[in-house]
Amino acid sequence: MTELIEHCYDYDNYLRILPEFIKTLLHHDESWHNNIKSDTGCFKQGANMQNQSDFLDYALKHQFGDLHCRVDPKSGMRAIIAIHNTKLGPALGGCRFIEYDNSASATLDAMRLARGMSFKSAVAGLPLGGGKAVIIKPKTPFDREAYFHAFGAFVHDIQGQYITAMDSGTELTDMAIIAQHTPYVASLAKDDGDPARATAYGILRGIQASVAFQKHQDHLENLVIAIQGLGHVGYLLAQHLHSLGAKLIVADINPQRVQQVVTEFGAQAVSTNDIHKVTCDVFSPCALGAIFNEKTIPQLQTRIIAGAANNQLAHHEHGQTLHDKGILYAPDYVINAGGVIFACGKYFHSDPTETEQTLNRIGKSLTEIFTRSQQENKPTSQIADTIAEEILQSPHETSQSFATAV
Ligand code: NAD
Repeated sequence: MTELIEHCYDYDNYLRILPEFIKTLLHHDESWHNNIKSDTGCFKQGANMQNQSDFLDYALKHQFGDLHCRVDPKSGMRAIIAIHNTKLGPALGGCRFIEYDNSASATLDAMRLARGMSFKSAVAGLPLGGGKAVIIKPKTPFDREAYFHAFGAFVHDIQGQYITAMDSGTELTDMAIIAQHTPYVASLAKDDGDPARATAYGILRGIQASVAFQKHQDHLENLVIAIQGLGHVGYLLAQHLHSLGAKLIVADINPQRVQQVVTEFGAQAVSTNDIHKVTCDVFSPCALGAIFNEKTIPQLQTRIIAGAANNQLAHHEHGQTLHDKGILYAPDYVINAGGVIFACGKYFHSDPTETEQTLNRIGKSLTEIFTRSQQENKPTSQIADTIAEEILQSPHETSQSFATAV
């Protein structure tokens, strides 16, 4: 978090929001990711605040780089770009456009996600650092185009340290507006910018690696796989799994999504309250964050968790709980790296074969994490974090493939 003030390009605007930042952030909990209502929902400040710490302590502890903020008085846009690490390359990470209770919650969300992107790209072996942007979505009417014009100028002012992309609440049309102001955009319609296909393919590879490790089986035929969430990723994953002979149990809050998968892939539908409780070989969360917690873990009837959702563990301690129960957990940011691998390939105009090889490495990376978890008797989530930190702290300046880094 060096140069906090120097990097806020519009100093007057920065001063306007600074008091709110400090007042609220000083009361945030170190384990603030407990306070997420859902991965993509409104980010709320929770009441459970032990181990109080301020945001500079959080930044120091997690070795942050820069935090940029911009308020555009003309449009009313308020945005934060958090850059965690640029050691391996520019910080690529999506731009969220969702509602927040206040700018402190938005800042913390951006910081948490930026750090996650550093870890994700490092373990995937990409030449990228970790960053994330948040534009605070207003609860009253606003001019969306003006917002994204202002955000595009903001991204450009950071001079390539941060590359933006689609995320919760942003669309390809928004990216096209940003691209009028800056070349630092990874999701563009001309590049077939939706990463969900690559993400779903990576999840498939991860499920195959998990099944091979836990069940010593090299096929998915007749395995029962429960999918929570049939959106962009969940639907494509269901399609892959069905074609490989798996039996599907599915749930989504959108009944049309469910009906489509029941009709096309012969899936069995259950309620959204029950999907994590069904007896299955693999449970694949593809909807929400923080779904593994004190309440849901005892209800699980699976020995493998392998899905796309970000931030699946409500708290890092839940990785230990899953490990103690003998449930093999494919760490979320390792198995769902397909999207950033795809975005990286498009941004750097890589050979598609190279991108495909990196996608295929997701399975290999997971197998190495599972093996080390078994050898060291530590949760897979902890092993993944250790590997990411080892890569980020290694003296090498450029990214290596994960397979050679461990
Ligand atoms: P999406 O919004 O297209 O799909 C999410 C689906 O979950 C929707 O169909 C929604 O109706 C459903 N849902 C919401 N609440 C639910 C509940 N309580 N029970 C069951 N279903 C529920 O999102 P997506 O792009 O498919 O991404 C899915 C998850 O994977 C998200 O957590 C996302 O952050 C993560 N992820 C996505 C990508 C990507 O490339 N799209 C990459 C990495 C991680």
